[in-house]
Order: sequence, then C-alpha cells, then structure tokens
Amino acid sequence: MGGRVVVVGSANVDVVVEVPHHPRDGETVLGGDVRRTPGGKGANQAVAATRGGGAETTFVGAVGRDESAELLLSSLERAAVRTDLVDRVDAATGTALITVAPDGGNAIAVAPGANSHVRVDAARSARIAEADVVLLQLEIPVDVVRSAAAAKRPDGRVVLNAAPSRRLPAGVWSLVDILVVNETEAADLAGGLPGPTTTGTGLDDTTVDPAALVEALLDRVPAVVVTLGAEGSLVAERGKRPLAIPALPVRAVDTTGAGDTYCGVLAAALSRGASLDDAARLATAAGALAVTCPGAQDAIPTAADVAALAA
Ligand code: ATP
Repeated sequence: MGGRVVVVGSANVDVVVEVPHHPRDGETVLGGDVRRTPGGKGANQAVAATRGGGAETTFVGAVGRDESAELLLSSLERAAVRTDLVDRVDAATGTALITVAPDGGNAIAVAPGANSHVRVDAARSARIAEADVVLLQLEIPVDVVRSAAAAKRPDGRVVLNAAPSRRLPAGVWSLVDILVVNETEAADLAGGLPGPTTTGTGLDDTTVDPAALVEALLDRVPAVVVTLGAEGSLVAERGKRPLAIPALPVRAVDTTGAGDTYCGVLAAALSRGASLDDAARLATAAGALAVTCPGAQDAIPTAADVAALAA
C-alpha cells in the first residue's frame, strides 16, 4: 500500500543537446538534435515518488501559460501525480538548458521563471499536513521551502534534497528530518561547518571524504544520505554506523535525473514506513535504472521494475 507524499518544488522543460564534450569557458560545441523533455527537480521527484515508488503524490508548483506548461502537466498527469495545486502564473515556464556528454554526464543551467512564484497557502498547507513525507529541493525560493517544511504534521517527515547548492536561512535545518545531497552539495554545505577534515572547496578538494562530510552534516540534521553517482550512496543516522550502499552495475547512457529518481523513490518508501536503509536500497535500484535511459522524467522506472532489481 502506498503512503502519501507531497512534493513542493520546480517544474522545468529540459532542453537537451548531446555533445562530444561540455563547452568550456568561451567555447562553442556542435551537438546533436535538440530534445525538449519534461523535467525540474520537483516534478521529476513527484513522478519518481508515484511511478517509481507507488506513493499517492501531490505536486505543488507553478507553471506559465505556455506550451511548455502543457508538456509538464501532461507528463505529471500521465504518471498519476495530483496536479490540482499547481498554479498557472504570468511568467514563462521554468527552462533548463542541458548538455549531455558521451559518458552520460550532464551540465545544466536553469531559468527559473514560474518556479519563482510557487507558494504555500492554506490549501497547500492542508495537503502538506495530510502527507506522510514532504519532499523539498532548492530550485524554488527558500522561504517557500521553509513554509512547506513548517506545514508538516507532527509525525510527518521532511526530506530535503538540498540541490542545487544554496545558502539556507537559519530555521530551516531544525525542520529537516532527512537531508539528501550529492558529494558536491555535501561539501558545499559542510564547508560552512567546523568539520574535522573538510575545507569546503568541493570535489577539487582531495582531502574531503564522504564519511567526514556525513559526520559534519549530522550536527545539523538527524539523518543524511550522500549520493555518489556510480559509487552508490552513504546513509547515516545519528547514533548508528553509516551504511555504504554500492550502486548496481548498469550501462549509463544519461545520468540526468538519477538523483531525482533516487529522492522520489526514497520518499515514497519512507511514506510507507520503510526504514531509511531499506528505502535507500530501493532508491539505489531506481537510480540505476534511471541512468540506462535518456531523459529525466521519461527515464523514471516503474515501481515493479525497481522492486525486481532491488530483490
Ligand atoms: P543528477 O543531478 O544528475 O540527477 P545527482 O548528482 O543528484 O544526479 P547521483 O549521485 O549521480 O545524483 O545519483 C543518484 C543515485 O543514482 C546514486 O546514488 C546511485 O545509486 C544511482 N546512480 C547514479 N549514477 C549511476 C551509475 N552510473 N550506475 C548505477 N547507479 C547510478
């Protein structure tokens, strides 16, 4: 049986070009045909929670009154995500410009547009209060993230995927139950902490190791998941030994949305009462399947496929 998840976040149209390598500063790179596909961390994670995780999921977001909005809403609805609390606003629908390299790695620039207008009003707060898990990211204004987290019911849980890296105002951390970050985001966040071996300079800093990052971040939140791409993920809760979950071996063709798939499936499993370790195992299977297909939402696997791979 599925639990209830509310995702408050961004919806973007992804404009994708496959390139021989990502353009360097000042460089123009000729790529393949352009693809326009539904994306945005919030919308991707809502689709992942529903299709990949089997949760009853509401997406709270905002889109414009343009063609891109139709593409996004129809993708959410196809996945059976509830869209009654998505606002139509007088701004362009969010757009992400993505280049994908031959190894499946991506580079992304986002124009937020309508995502700057996401709001948490009484109706949205009421839906959040019904949810077992509230799933949040940082592609919308941070005061909206804080309001959404504050609207959870006392026994509901807030999962924050702190991506992309941004400074968070005081008062957000105490509302977060589980923080999910990739290695770069973990290093950025831990850089502001008095961590034992971290200096906060990100992936170029060879002295940063994921276990030290996790240790530093557990000062702020009760549980942390650091995703490590093809290396898998590290799951840590205060008072418990961290668990390293290896990635499942697959041929990666496009890693766009792997993290979103991981977060959505993790939240869905938690909403059904799974332990964090078990939820992360399912999310690992979902992340592996997601990188085997091109696209973000289009690459999100079904709950049956996720369960079969995780078994
Ligand atoms: P993105 O921003 O591209 O969506 P991310 O950096 O947030 O990704 P990753 O750490 O790349 O997130 O991926 C999330 C999870 O997906 C990983 O922890 C891993 O379990 C799975 N995954 C990612 N890449 C691979 C891969 N090449 N092979 C197998 N599993 C993968």
